[in-house]
Amino acid sequence: RAKTLGKNRYALFGEDLQPSEARLSGPVDEIARAISNHEFVLYYQPIVNLQSGELNSVEALIRWQHPARGLLPPAEFLPLIEGHPVAASLDNWVLDEALRQHQRWLDEGLDISVSVNMSSPKLQEHDFVERLRAKLQANPRVGTGRIKLEVLETSALEDIGHVSQTIAECATLGVPFALDDFGTGYSSLLYLKQLPAKRIKIDQSFVRDMLVDSDDLAILEGVLGMAAAFKREVIAEGVESIEHARMLVQMGCLMGQGYGIARPMPASQVLAWAAGWRLPEGLAGCRVLGRN
Ligand code: C2E
Ligand code: MG
Ligand code: MG
Ligand code: MG
Repeated sequence: RAKTLGKNRYALFGEDLQPSEARLSGPVDEIARAISNHEFVLYYQPIVNLQSGELNSVEALIRWQHPARGLLPPAEFLPLIEGHPVAASLDNWVLDEALRQHQRWLDEGLDISVSVNMSSPKLQEHDFVERLRAKLQANPRVGTGRIKLEVLETSALEDIGHVSQTIAECATLGVPFALDDFGTGYSSLLYLKQLPAKRIKIDQSFVRDMLVDSDDLAILEGVLGMAAAFKREVIAEGVESIEHARMLVQMGCLMGQGYGIARPMPASQVLAWAAGWRLPEGLAGCRVLGRN
């Protein structure tokens, strides 16, 4: 395994390879080339307060504008490079691009937070926090809490010691973390205690079926209870309809993102979306049940 990775890394720098070796490193080479060709773009999906309508942040979601195959979602290419150094290069590009876009929005008068997905190997790089600090210093107008990071619950558990430490150090830089796709890993109280992430994002699979599947509703209630006990913010992913949003607010889950609010969109559309967005009829006046 290590040998294969070594070869792939070699290939990134365009060294001569035997045809068989070139085939072996296909996706890695192609993605390295696509990074230098500027073929990746970030789409942004709003995260809103479902009760007040306030725009909390936008999540940056990568797309590959492939010259032959069109716009590719991350599921088409991220799994091919998982754990490979080129995935860390891509994370690095994403972070830089999200910071550049944040700066552009500030220039346009849109004061917004941007949430960025990071792979767990990226967070385990020994100089990740130092490099993040340098990036933030180079973008002085990106204030505290305006850049947020997300890591998958499942991958945070791969090296919980290291990832918790990175999360804690980022917090001192004013960069809060979210545990992404929460509920798909072990989701235990013990792990949550060890991972000092400010936010928890409930996986869309539980949210999608909450209206029809009482088990998923129970999982949702459990996660909300855990989050409240540990004073973490909760965001529901996959809010596909106003009915979902209503039920979430009634359960005390006030933040959400999903097709029912807005689909991921190019950066150029965010300003107009934010200006035109109003809390839908069916959500105005919706209350958390059991509270005043
Ligand atoms: P994620 O971070 O959990 O992002 C949410 C995914 O759910 C996005 O898929 C989004 O388009 C989709 N989604 C949002 N609302 C709804 C909804 O109402 N219904 C349904 N069915 N889906 C919804 P996308 O953009 O395809 O991204 C998939 C995953 O790829 C992300 O899941 C994240 O884990 C990963 N990813 C995306 N961008 C990046 C990136 O820049 N870096 C890294 N390391 N991973 C990324
Ligand atoms: Mg995410
Ligand atoms: Mg997620
Ligand atoms: Mg996901």
